[in-house]
Amino acid sequence: MSQFTDFGLNPALLKAIKELGFENPMPIQEKTIPVLLEKDVDFVGLAQTGTGKTAAFGLPLLNKIDETQRCVQALILCPTRELCMQITRDLRNYAKYIPEILIVPVYGGASIEVQFKDLAKKPQIIVATPGRLRDMIRRNRVDFSNVKTMILDEADEMLNMGFQEEVDDILEYMPKEGRHTMLFSATMPKEVEAILNKYMTDPVKVAVGERNSGTANVDHIYYMMAAKDRYMVLKRIIDYTPAIYGIIFCRTKLETQEIADNLIQDGYNAAALHGDLSQAMRDNVMDHFRKRSLQLLVATDVAARGIDVKELTHIINYNLPDDIETYVHRSGRTGRADKRGICLSLINLREKSKIKRIEKIVGRPFEKAMIPTGFARHPPQVGVDEPRGTHHPHGGPQLQPFLGLLQGRYRPECQR
Ligand code: AMP
Repeated sequence: MSQFTDFGLNPALLKAIKELGFENPMPIQEKTIPVLLEKDVDFVGLAQTGTGKTAAFGLPLLNKIDETQRCVQALILCPTRELCMQITRDLRNYAKYIPEILIVPVYGGASIEVQFKDLAKKPQIIVATPGRLRDMIRRNRVDFSNVKTMILDEADEMLNMGFQEEVDDILEYMPKEGRHTMLFSATMPKEVEAILNKYMTDPVKVAVGERNSGTANVDHIYYMMAAKDRYMVLKRIIDYTPAIYGIIFCRTKLETQEIADNLIQDGYNAAALHGDLSQAMRDNVMDHFRKRSLQLLVATDVAARGIDVKELTHIINYNLPDDIETYVHRSGRTGRADKRGICLSLINLREKSKIKRIEKIVGRPFEKAMIPTGFARHPPQVGVDEPRGTHHPHGGPQLQPFLGLLQGRYRPECQR
């Protein structure tokens, strides 16, 4: 197994990642870093979230940035503002000891004028969501003529979310000469292949894990029930998993909000995350979730994109997603960095055939579990140091911050 010190990375980067606790390169880093350091090539990385791909492209990128030149040298496109902020945070952490490198996030739903001010500081790296970046290009106030590296992260998700036109416009606009492009994607649908064919030359291809495979560290389990019993089953599962720390995925914003409201009313430590919440509310929820003062995040797929929260114990599919690839993305949020994870799905009889199809894609059998009965003793919830049965109709003291969040929940300023 290679070491980070084998790659010839800048000692300032090595010092920073050592402090972050990166001891050995993850498989995608082992395969990617030497290639990208050696020469400027077009590159395709087929990798799930949680495989360490940000450092795989981020470390060679930071190694190559000329910190003495104050111009935009690299552009990273990603689907959501959460991922945009996370990539920015990760790159800033890696570049901690090269303070001359400026990294600026650019995303929708925040003031464009404030972002123009950040860009006036002349960062070398911009991390952006496609809609806002195209808007900036149209306003013609940022010089992109020195961009040498374009990175498309979670390309499949960007196109799934309908950003095809924006991505095309951005790729067309960037300099053609001396530019190389990298693309990372968990899956390779034909729309992503089309980008490869149109904008990349002889890309080096690296795959981690099998194409479209489910994370090997995840146990896939399903519960079968009548649709009307879904919520009751959800509560039973949570009651029987007191140390649960996870995300409950719902199909719509409305359902997400309803389930979160119900859980809070029933005394659980939960909050909603979806696109109708203001950015401040979403940041607040994520802040609590990261610190683990919030145990259960009830989220839509779009809002949860790019969330990198370590050590999630469970992913719960309150409903199976329509699109099987979405299942792969959801389940990939647990079982990261060598930890085991559990992905639970609540399904009704008619959805049984869908399980068969997902099994084929993830390449692993699902286990059918028995729904816990209501008669056995329920263990107490983590962090709720009260006898079982102490019912807080309004969520209990520890949940008050989240109730506040819920009150103004339909503020329209958010994108997606
Ligand atoms: P990513 O797929 O980039 O979101 O990374 C998943 C998680 O793994 C992040 O929390 C990273 O900080 C962490 N990580 C990345 N590379 C390493 C490494 N070599 N050793 C330990 N953790 C890592």
